[in-house]
Formats: sequence, C-alpha cells, structure tokens
Amino acid sequence: WDMFVLAFFERLFRPTYRKDDFVLGKKLGEGAFGVVYKATFAKSKASSKQGDLVLKKATEYGAVEIWMNERVRRACASSCADFVYGFLESSAKGKGSGEYWLVWRFEGEETLAELIQSKEFPYNVETKILGEVQDLPKGLERENKIIQTIMRQVLFALDGLHSTGIVHRDMKPQNVIFSEGSRTFKIIDLGAATDLRVGINYIPKEFLLDPRYSAPEQYIMSTQTPSAPSAPVATALSPVLWQMNLPDRFDMYSVGLIFLQMAFPPLRSDNGLIQFNRQLKRCGYDMAAWRSTVEPRASPELRKGFELLDLDGGIGWELLTSMVRFKAGQRTSAKAALAHPYFRGEGLLGLSFMQ
Ligand code: ADP
Ligand code: MG
Repeated sequence: WDMFVLAFFERLFRPTYRKDDFVLGKKLGEGAFGVVYKATFAKSKASSKQGDLVLKKATEYGAVEIWMNERVRRACASSCADFVYGFLESSAKGKGSGEYWLVWRFEGEETLAELIQSKEFPYNVETKILGEVQDLPKGLERENKIIQTIMRQVLFALDGLHSTGIVHRDMKPQNVIFSEGSRTFKIIDLGAATDLRVGINYIPKEFLLDPRYSAPEQYIMSTQTPSAPSAPVATALSPVLWQMNLPDRFDMYSVGLIFLQMAFPPLRSDNGLIQFNRQLKRCGYDMAAWRSTVEPRASPELRKGFELLDLDGGIGWELLTSMVRFKAGQRTSAKAALAHPYFRGEGLLGLSFMQ
C-alpha cells in the first residue's frame, strides 16, 4: 500500500507533460519496439525546465517500461537514467492504440558499447571515472583498476534493481550509459525488465532477449511457473519464487560477458563475442575448459585478458567464472559480487584515484 500511496502523492505534486511540451531532435536509435530521440522541453516550458532529454516512442510494451521506470525512480533512482515522465499519446481519430512516450534526462553521449569499441579502452574511461591523477604506468595493472571501477559501478546499479525485485534481462554494454552528471555508469532500457514482486511482465518475452548476452537458460522461471499468477498472488509468492529460481542470476551471466569483453580485447567485437559464445557452448559452458582450449594458441591480445584476470592471485578470473556459469543457482549475485576480493584492493592501492 505504501507504494500506491506514494505514487498517488507523486502524481498530485509532480508536473505532468504532454506531446506539445517536447521538441524532438536527432534520432538516437531505433529498435523493434520503439524509436529513441534526443529532445528538449518546448519554449512554453523553457523558463523553468532546461537541459537535454531523451524521448522514446514505444509500442504496447511502453506501458511496462513506464511502470518499471516509475518504480526505479522511487526505489533505486541512482541505478538508472533519470526518468522524467511517461504517458500514452493516443492516436488521432482513435485508430490504433496510440504510442507510449517516455522521457529521461539526457545522461551523456556514450554508452559502454561505444567506449569499449575504442582502441583507447579502458584509458578513454579513466579520466571520466577516476579523475586526472594516475600513479601507475600504462599497463595491465592500471587497465585492471579502470575495469574494476566500471564493474563495481555496473554491479552497484544492478544490485539496486535486484534489491527492488527487478530483473533487467537485457544487460549489455549498449544499455549501460556513462552519466556525465554523476560521473558513473548507469543502466538504461527497462523495456525487457520484469518485476517479480508485483507480477508485472511476469511471462518472459524471450524474443526480446539479445542472444549475444543471454544466459543459456534463455528465459527465466519458465519451467516451474508456466503461467503468471494474478498480481496479488504474485506479490504473496514471489519472494519464495525469487529464492527458488534466482531469476536475478540471468543478469549476472550477462554482466559476466560484459566483464569478459572488457578484459579480452578480441571479444569486444560482435564477431568475437559470437565466436566466444560458440566456443563456450562447445565446452559445456565451462570457463575452465574454454580457457584450456584457447589459451595454448591464444593471440597476444587474447592472452592479455588472461594476464589481467590473473593479477593478484587470479581473483579477477575467479570473479568472472563465478558469474559465467551454466547453472543459474551457481552464479554469484550482484551483492555477493560487490563483496568479492577482486574489488578489495581497489580503494587501498589506488587511494590517489579516489575522489
Ligand atoms: P532501445 O529499446 O532502442 O534499445 P534504449 O532505451 O536502449 O532503447 O535507448 C537507445 C539508445 O539511446 C541507447 O543505446 C543510448 O545510446 C541512448 N539513450 C537512451 N537513454 C538515454 C539517456 N537517458 N541519456 C542519453 N542517451 C540515452
Ligand atoms: Mg537498448
């Protein structure tokens, strides 16, 4: 009930917007379920409202995405891009069901996908998140420190979602944005997300999932719970179901692949990742087996990944292999990953990096 009371008062006191309050700018992206534009507030609102916005025009799934964003804003706002407003823009003359408009603050120009594609990665991220001071020579240790910081920020944001009961289901570098304002990475795109505590979007839309980053189980909770219970039932049952099926571990697999791509330069390209997925499948999703097949004939660039993860007694490799596992129940959680020794050295050895 708290949630609904809170939502009611928010509705009363927060500004509401409609179509004419926004001016669309350049197109940022286009998917199967919507188009994303850069935007600003229209002149009429400009006196008080400023700053760049992002506006998504979505199909029927927009309703769920608005719901997820509202929930995130109340429960774990810092995890995701700052949500401004969402509404249904009914179509003219009642043809069709109209489209959902979702508006966020424009967080920054670059997602992690663009950043890892740069030859400079991870140094192109260094000053963004660690400030100007570098006390290490360029090399593996310094790269590891930057990747550690990115991983910590992504896991922190994801832990916020999971603690709220939300599984993202589309974790990938394209959906991790660098926020210029907070100088941290945030999660975007709750279009495929599911909230198990309230039963929203309970039946997984497998076709939404990106096969490059999806865990092998593909969709979550399908076998034990073939149909969605009505919302009140789901509320009562879901903490149990959450424990039983560990649906959050679906995201952990995807985040493991993001970690993998950051560590191994050849796996940052689409083709590299697709090839890795094929190899891992052939190895029965056993990272140790994958390592023993590719390491002996690894290119220097691939070997770099192993060397980076082997630093400090191999704690990076240990963390990676605790995320990329076939069985969801054997994967670490976001919260446990944040407490992993991989992140322990970060603040101590790198004091000069801290802000
Ligand atoms: P899609 O469903 O098309 O994947 P996303 O929500 O992922 O939609 O947005 C598409 C792209 O728009 C993102 O990859 C990112 O480049 C950009 N984008 C989305 N939200 C923001 C934001 N709040 N700030 C800046 N850029 C954003
Ligand atoms: Mg996206």
